[in-house]
Amino acid sequence: MRIVLLGAPGSGKGTQGKQLSEKYHIPQISTGDLLRAAVAAGSPLGVRAKEAMDDGHLVSDDIVLGMIEERLAQPDAKDGFILDGFPRNTPQAQALDILLAKIGKPLQVSLLMDVDLDLLMQRLTGRRTCESCSRVFNVYTSPSKFEGRCDDCGGNLRHRTDDKEQTIENRLKVYQAQTAPLVKYYGEQDKLKTVDAIGEIADIFSRICELLDAVHEEELLKAKGVPADVEAITAAVTEKLSEVRGGKAAKKTASSEKKAVKKKAVKKKK
Ligand code: AMP
Repeated sequence: MRIVLLGAPGSGKGTQGKQLSEKYHIPQISTGDLLRAAVAAGSPLGVRAKEAMDDGHLVSDDIVLGMIEERLAQPDAKDGFILDGFPRNTPQAQALDILLAKIGKPLQVSLLMDVDLDLLMQRLTGRRTCESCSRVFNVYTSPSKFEGRCDDCGGNLRHRTDDKEQTIENRLKVYQAQTAPLVKYYGEQDKLKTVDAIGEIADIFSRICELLDAVHEEELLKAKGVPADVEAITAAVTEKLSEVRGGKAAKKTASSEKKAVKKKAVKKKK
């Protein structure tokens, strides 16, 4: 599967992307994680990216596109990928389309994680991420058992520097202005699926899997040359036939009942 996870900061792209990666055995590629790694390593690219990240603004397209191109060329991405946090604006989406067209593997689905704004604020201010295994906790909604420690590996939980209130506000504004238009962009390509991303993580995951399984099935039918709606038409015709047959059977029963009553009446007369 070749998937883009679309959604505001805090909508759960990282959490769901991780689980999807395990289920489909394809890498989750997060430009945010790649950029944070570059910042932590102090590479020239990281130094260039840091200021924009700390302010909650987007890092320049040339940095991000270079990183993505390099990452998608890795062998583990040849059977598919889950893009998390990329593309973030229309030029990035167009560049991705061109890149994928070149290798003959177009995007299959863009999955919008739908969450309302108030909830996002709570999710982001309460978010704590494990420094060792990247597991995400939330002090309000899903705290770790021991404060500051990861339940899985005991690693240190940290509050991302860009999860502070002012930065969060900027990130949400940037999302509305630059990333939200991608909903229309992918809608027009007929690649957009929307999932209700409020509730338990496991429930959201099941909803996503249902959507993706349907997309996968459609793709298989397309590959076999059967238009997706043939299935729906076949089901409708079968239903109609059984209705008609049911109707005929009912008429037959009624008429044989009538005949039997008539016979009885004749016998009585005699
Ligand atoms: P994220 O972890 O996806 O929320 O990203 C954290 C920060 O990294 C963002 O606020 C941006 O500053 C930067 N960033 C991540 N992905 C992109 C991208 N595709 N384009 C530009 N900046 C990005």
